[in-house]
Amino acid sequence: MSAVRPSEKRKRVIILGSTGSIGTSALKVARDIPERMEVVGLAAARSTAALAAQAVEFGVKQVALTDAASLPALASALPDDVRIFPGEAGLVELIQAVQADMVLIAIVGTAGLRPALAAIEAGCDLAIASKEILVMAGEIVIEAARRQGVAVLPVDSEHNAIFQCLEGRDPEEVTRLILTASGGPFRTWPNDRIAAATLGEALKHPTWEMGRKITIDSATLFNKGLEMIEARWLFNVPMDRVDVIVHPQSIIHSMVEFIDGSVLAQLSHSDMCFPIQYAVTWPQRVKNSLRPLDFAALRQLDFEAPRRADFPAIDLAVQAGTLGGTLPAVYNAANEIAVAAFIEGRLSFPGIWQTVARTMEVHQAEPHAGLDAILAADAWARKKARGLLNSG
Ligand code: NDP
Repeated sequence: MSAVRPSEKRKRVIILGSTGSIGTSALKVARDIPERMEVVGLAAARSTAALAAQAVEFGVKQVALTDAASLPALASALPDDVRIFPGEAGLVELIQAVQADMVLIAIVGTAGLRPALAAIEAGCDLAIASKEILVMAGEIVIEAARRQGVAVLPVDSEHNAIFQCLEGRDPEEVTRLILTASGGPFRTWPNDRIAAATLGEALKHPTWEMGRKITIDSATLFNKGLEMIEARWLFNVPMDRVDVIVHPQSIIHSMVEFIDGSVLAQLSHSDMCFPIQYAVTWPQRVKNSLRPLDFAALRQLDFEAPRRADFPAIDLAVQAGTLGGTLPAVYNAANEIAVAAFIEGRLSFPGIWQTVARTMEVHQAEPHAGLDAILAADAWARKKARGLLNSG
């Protein structure tokens, strides 16, 4: 019998946000490499039919559902031996009840923060897709994981790429993290056309298929701004060493520049199964059924500087990430409110960044904030942004 190294064992994974875009990609990975990934917990907000079908397919016996009104529908769709943990508290209870190796946080927004901290406390490695968590409380999450000796594995494709390029390197050798951005659907649009952009136009992402919130964030470049702050905490580099380059093909997922002038990059097709699988099998690589790159067919990779004046989300992120403390939480929360208003047709496209900029301007930032101050700033920013929207 050959010995199985700990990292080669079948990993027991809880997926929070399993019915979403990342969650369903994670389940594709579980189907593709079942010898390395076992799904042991699932959670969603209200997609009862999809959650029940997933639990049945993967034989999962413990699930969580946060929307109280949807609980009866879930209970009637599930076999009797499946336990349901209800409400936001149910996400934490699920983690505490299941002995998992890893928790994948793939919930939109900030609802994943408390479960992330609970996972660390339970000694589980974290695979984080929800960028809002690291943006709001990156310092706290990374420090808690370090104290507990658990790994934080980035699932966001850019950070997963940087994570791969940095492996085994001395941080002193790094000069710049270079995040690539597709540029979104309005990359080549003139400013006056962007000002009149509709929801339908903003939802047409050129290279990635994702949930609605993140697709709008890709059109405004708030997604890249959030990622810059996320990178700052994940890799512990100052904000002025986090750079962005527009790369419309989304083949290079990000790069790292070293002191000797060499740049390492990670490339693959735009499919979230790549970074999700790497987070699950890390530090090993495992054969799968994903399509490899065909460079002759690709022919060319393009790059251009981001239009910072037309997409102010990047400079606002630099401001938030440089100051740190409560300001990134305000950047994130005001954006969530503004994006929701844009989706509901109550706000223009430029109104999104204008609302965020105004909310940040009036915030009394606390530079070294604890979790309570960050959560208070998050709540304050939501209220302030709503107020700004209501006052026109
Ligand atoms: P989706 O909107 O597609 O899915 C969100 C998932 O979270 C759904 O399963 C939803 O359940 C669940 N959910 C939402 N709110 C709650 C809550 N309060 N409690 C429990 N579950 C909840 O989002 P994405 O998969 O696109 O994105 C998830 C996260 O990953 C985001 O933070 C995003 O920024 C990040 N990310 C996404 C990428 C992508 O390619 N999609 C790439 C990189 C990062 P229900 O179906 O019931 O509503």
